Amino acid sequence: MSSLRIENACKYFGGLKAVDGINMTVPAGRITGLIGPNGAGKSTVVNMISGVYSLTRGEVYLDDQQLTRLHVDEVARRGIARTFQNIRLLPEESVLDNVVIGYFRKQQSGVMASLMGLPVALAETRRLREQAWELLGRFGIQKYADYEAGSLPYGHQRRVEMARSIAAAPRIVMLDEPVAGMNEVESAEMAEIFEDLARSGMGLLLIEHNVAFVSRLCSQVYVLDSGRMIAEGPPETVTRDPKVIEAYIGG
Ligand code: ADP
Ligand code: MG
Repeated sequence: MSSLRIENACKYFGGLKAVDGINMTVPAGRITGLIGPNGAGKSTVVNMISGVYSLTRGEVYLDDQQLTRLHVDEVARRGIARTFQNIRLLPEESVLDNVVIGYFRKQQSGVMASLMGLPVALAETRRLREQAWELLGRFGIQKYADYEAGSLPYGHQRRVEMARSIAAAPRIVMLDEPVAGMNEVESAEMAEIFEDLARSGMGLLLIEHNVAFVSRLCSQVYVLDSGRMIAEGPPETVTRDPKVIEAYIGG
């Protein structure tokens, strides 16, 4: 079983220590939580792992492979997927095409250009579209397949973004506040999907503000505050930790 690790990792923006010497493991087949107040550095961690930000110090590994200095596209090709806290869909493309694009493991600019330029056989295209169609069903948005992605309500755009991120069956997926703006029922639907994905062997890093949601789903929870890991362990221990309570209500 593979696992993603980040070791002694730092990201400084000038004098700001956004992430300051953290260690974290995201194993396959489990849901690992990363929580912490606003500005704690959670999204920065995702950007460091996925290659969007270079590390000031430290290393990222997938099993024994170094990912630390790889290009963002190469990290994606190695099986590390992510969603963005601020949704990044191609708003004028259809919902279905947005998911199809996920199969190409490109999450940066130039996606459409590279897609159009690829000599993809017709049969292959049809197969990818069928798979994308099934994924839309799993996320409950099949009926919007032909809609422009940008025309969907926010919660549904999040679903499209998640479907796209897992389209290429990554080994690890990092979900940056995936249920933000969703109600209880919708969050519960997403929770079921996350558990299914973990059962299928995928490793999930779930970044969330909602501690109760994370506690229900995660085997291991990490708590980040001002760039430092202040607690880690099973949710029932972590949520009772005075340092964690202080970070959330005090500060
Ligand atoms: P979180 O996701 O936990 O809310 P972030 O990782 O977005 O926190 O941000 C952590 C800190 O790093 C914040 O103070 C934020 O302003 C800062 N930060 C994040 N990205 C950048 C950047 N590209 N340039 C400068 N500062 C940044
Ligand atoms: Mg964030």
